[in-house]
Amino acid sequence: NADIAMHEVKKSGRGQLRFYDPAMSAYAREALVIDGALRGAIAAGELWLVYQPIIDARTGRLDKVEALLRWHSATLGHVGPDRFIPVAEDSGLIIDLGAWVLAEACRQLGAWRADLPQLAMSINVSARQLLDPAFISLVEQALADHGLAPQRLELELTERVLIGNGEQVRAALARLHDLGVSISLDDFGTGYSSLSYLTQFDINTLKIDRGFVTGMVDSPRSHALVATIVAMGHSLGMRLVAEGVETADQARALDVIGCHYLQGYHISRPVAADELLRFAASRSGGER
Ligand code: C2E
Ligand code: MG
Ligand code: MG
Ligand code: MG
Repeated sequence: NADIAMHEVKKSGRGQLRFYDPAMSAYAREALVIDGALRGAIAAGELWLVYQPIIDARTGRLDKVEALLRWHSATLGHVGPDRFIPVAEDSGLIIDLGAWVLAEACRQLGAWRADLPQLAMSINVSARQLLDPAFISLVEQALADHGLAPQRLELELTERVLIGNGEQVRAALARLHDLGVSISLDDFGTGYSSLSYLTQFDINTLKIDRGFVTGMVDSPRSHALVATIVAMGHSLGMRLVAEGVETADQARALDVIGCHYLQGYHISRPVAADELLRFAASRSGGER
């Protein structure tokens, strides 16, 4: 039974002997292999961040980047975050990975100080990180280490993070809010979508999931849904980001309905740090 096998794996703890059970699911087997390889990835220098531009829909100005984790494993080759993040969340390794991401993203933002003094940085945070008692001080430390104003950091959470740990999450978000760090709700509309949490938690930004954006030019219903989310966000005083903007038509339609920010392949793929500077230079004219 895969659950039992994974349970045994978790109990066996870090860096200890793990075993294969022929009854394990394919996922559990893959998870074991990924987890094993991932444990040495930070020390081996196999991880890096790429940065995806988030632009002002009206002016085309580069306002923010989202840091996205990349891994090239010596043994497994390139592994995407959709495969290794869930494994790291299950094993607890996400605490170390997330701390690395936070520190590296802040280091990079500090390094861009001269070229991009106003740029904001958005990073993805898993539930286990947010609920880790050390998290807030890690955030404070990362900001202090690089002399960054808290307003330049945004943390992206999914709806899944908000449910289930209500009181603890509310407390953590309130502390981050007091610190001046922004909170963004990622993949909005795909999760449990109980809208009540929009009033219960300190949330600054909604990121409209790519799934809605993809259909909005051809499907009147998708268009209406996105327009409704944008209007709701406006009335709650939130900022809106559209994810997965792949065409000029989508970008125009989003601007028309009042979506503040755009992110997606139409604007730019996630790029390496030096390439981001070239993107920023090409955008100083402000065209979309
Ligand atoms: P996400 O936070 O929703 O990030 C957006 C994902 O959509 C990224 O995939 C990005 O490359 C992709 N994307 C952006 N624009 C477009 C577009 O126009 N079309 C399409 N088809 N895709 C687009 P990526 O980098 O593979 O990351 C996948 C997920 O892995 C992220 O989804 C996030 O949930 C997670 N992730 C990535 N880095 C981290 C991290 O440092 N920490 C944590 N906890 N999770 C991370
Ligand atoms: Mg995200
Ligand atoms: Mg997203
Ligand atoms: Mg996602």
